[in-house]
Amino acid sequence: DSKVAVLTSGGDAPGMNTAIRAIVRKGIYHDLRVYGVFHGYDGLLRGEIKEMELGSVADIVHRGGTILKTARCEEMFTAEGQRLAADQLKAKGIEALVVIGGDGSYRGAKKLAELGIKVIGVPGTIDNDIAGTDSTIGFDTAVNTVVEAVSKLRDTASSHERTFLVEVMGRNCGDIALHSGLAIGAESILTPEIPFDLQEISEKLLRGYRRGKNHSIIICAEGAGDIREIASGLKNYSGLENRVTILGHIQRGGAPSAADSLLGAMMGGKAIEALMEGKSEVMISHFQNEIVDRPLELAFKEKKMFNRKLYELANELAI
Ligand code: ATP
Repeated sequence: DSKVAVLTSGGDAPGMNTAIRAIVRKGIYHDLRVYGVFHGYDGLLRGEIKEMELGSVADIVHRGGTILKTARCEEMFTAEGQRLAADQLKAKGIEALVVIGGDGSYRGAKKLAELGIKVIGVPGTIDNDIAGTDSTIGFDTAVNTVVEAVSKLRDTASSHERTFLVEVMGRNCGDIALHSGLAIGAESILTPEIPFDLQEISEKLLRGYRRGKNHSIIICAEGAGDIREIASGLKNYSGLENRVTILGHIQRGGAPSAADSLLGAMMGGKAIEALMEGKSEVMISHFQNEIVDRPLELAFKEKKMFNRKLYELANELAI
């Protein structure tokens, strides 16, 4: 029987558990022996590897986070750490590793491939910041969490006739801001990808107020700039009061949305298929409406595309 392992690495994301379940169950269904590695690469270096049974993934699909736990691991950046990681797998006769995580985690996987381990990447991160795939496991849930939180803020914003600035996650990628902002009809969406002008935004706010709008919501990705500076800039230009809310880590938690559970199941299943076809150094990708495998290095060689059309639509709707 071939032996394969799975780990989660980098930030956790809702739907990772569904992917783990799919990998374990489909693997066992096809007579593979499937091992879980706990605490990401850190646990791998320390040999925290346990064989998974059908029952070890029972009752987890509705839970956020990852039952395998996750970690960041400095040692994995060194040649010695990488060799130790590969040796831990080889010592147990494990020939392949599925890594659920972001592009950093894929870089670690690529190093293991150079040391003779077959590797498959599965995109798991709420940020949707991985090139080579249209969506990542956890993104839809995070967008839903933001939409829900903003609808509560909107009640108080409209009662007090105020502008609310809401900071959402996304250091290099404005997708959470863009998708949630468009979904809730935000007045402005600020992202790291598109430069913005506070004076212009202030004028838009003022035009809205003159037209009788009694509140405004501005969604800011973390990477767009310091939200407190943005807030005070807007206040200076417009003279309008505003309030800042930072949503923070609640965006990472919660039960996965149905869409993320499905994505996790499909991508986990596809990872096992790719392994059975003898593939390595591929990432599972949601591409042109299908779940496919594509070269792993797309994730670090290409730049994640920002959807300018959606951004323009959001602007047109928030006139
Ligand atoms: P997220 O975007 O959710 O944070 P990520 O996978 O991009 O996920 P990182 O913190 O970049 O998160 O990477 C996770 C781990 O992967 C690192 O702590 C490290 O152990 C390993 N890793 C990252 N980059 C490399 C690299 N260039 N070489 C070897 N290992 C790496």
